[in-house]
Amino acid sequence: MRSSEQIKYLESLGIPLWVPRAFSFTQLQADPQPVTGDDQHETTASIRLSQPPGDIENMGWDELQQTVQQCIACGLHTGRTQAVFGTGNRAASLMVIGEAPGADEDAQGEPFVGRAGQLLDQMLQAIDCPRASVYIANIVKCRPPDNRNPQSEEALHCAPYLHRQIALVQPSVILAVGKVAAQNLLQSDLPVGKMRGSPYRYAPMDIPVIVTYHPAYLLRSPKEKAKSWHDLKLVRSFL
Ligand code: URA
Repeated sequence: MRSSEQIKYLESLGIPLWVPRAFSFTQLQADPQPVTGDDQHETTASIRLSQPPGDIENMGWDELQQTVQQCIACGLHTGRTQAVFGTGNRAASLMVIGEAPGADEDAQGEPFVGRAGQLLDQMLQAIDCPRASVYIANIVKCRPPDNRNPQSEEALHCAPYLHRQIALVQPSVILAVGKVAAQNLLQSDLPVGKMRGSPYRYAPMDIPVIVTYHPAYLLRSPKEKAKSWHDLKLVRSFL
């Protein structure tokens, strides 16, 4: 039974309030493996870790956060107001990973606080995972200039931080929003449209990863929201 809160969020997502018959929750729960056969694609990969500055692998939250705030490993630090570490429930079952801070995030020091963040909050609420219950982080912690995508070198320098955050949270499932998050986490060059719809794994810790469209893209292409709703239900099946 859906609460009126959920119905409101689903409507705001533009999601029709019915569940397609083809979607089977039980099947996905019982067999959380990626598709095979013609649709087969690379499903596990290890994140490439650059030379970590210090002993990141053994850091606790406070030391890690302080290290990120002081990081000068790549050129992005020169344009930041502050590094955007991550936020939320450090014992979350669901971890959301985005791309990089934008202007709002750079100013406020928190991921996903702009328009895309508001849609992300609604998406999470729609599967009964309010923002405060999940942990949210980005592939890179500093804002790229002119809102460009982070370069692979920059993502590589930041990877040990994200890897440690994942290790500390130990989520049951990761939701990767957008191409940059999905491709860096899964070390793939497939487009989101090919990766979404079936579970992958974050190989270093064997954690299920669900890929979906970035909320900023959904704001520009609302007709894709129905697909993201399918992806969100897939996330729910792992919780
Ligand atoms: N987009 C992202 O990917 N991350 C943010 O924190 C904000 C916008």
